[in-house]
Amino acid sequence: MAAGEDAAADVVAGRACGSCSLCCILPDIDELEKPANVVCRHCVPGGGCQSYATRPQTCRDFLCLWRTEPLLGAHWDPAVSHMMVYVQGPQTTVLVDPAQPALWQHEPYVGELRRWAVEARRKGGYLIVYVGDDVTVVE
Ligand code: SF4
Ligand code: SF4
Repeated sequence: MAAGEDAAADVVAGRACGSCSLCCILPDIDELEKPANVVCRHCVPGGGCQSYATRPQTCRDFLCLWRTEPLLGAHWDPAVSHMMVYVQGPQTTVLVDPAQPALWQHEPYVGELRRWAVEARRKGGYLIVYVGDDVTVVE
């Protein structure tokens, strides 16, 4: 979908949104009155935004952590992990595709999430995993 493709300066070379549309599906987006886990009405099947030129600021500003953080390995590609990760202030958020609700609880994911949670707490933050209505604060 490449929501924030033109807004982000610090993208990791060689990574692209491709056919991923998770950030047009999993989060709620106030400007679009889009609930969580509902496909945005502007989303093009197979990747893309049919309202790309007029998409809201939230979309323009957003890239998931896999696009901007080289420390996230290839297995964190949302097309592979079925999760999207982002950081806002003290909160690291992991939104899980409800179609793959348990993947985050398996390695290599859960071990890394626990390490990230420890690191976040060390800095005064926290890490939360959302799977539909299920919310887990990772310890
Ligand atoms: S979740 Fe990440 S990789 Fe997927 S479309 Fe959004 S920004 Fe691109
Ligand atoms: S408006 Fe476009 S970029 Fe924003 S969520 Fe919808 S499809 Fe994605």
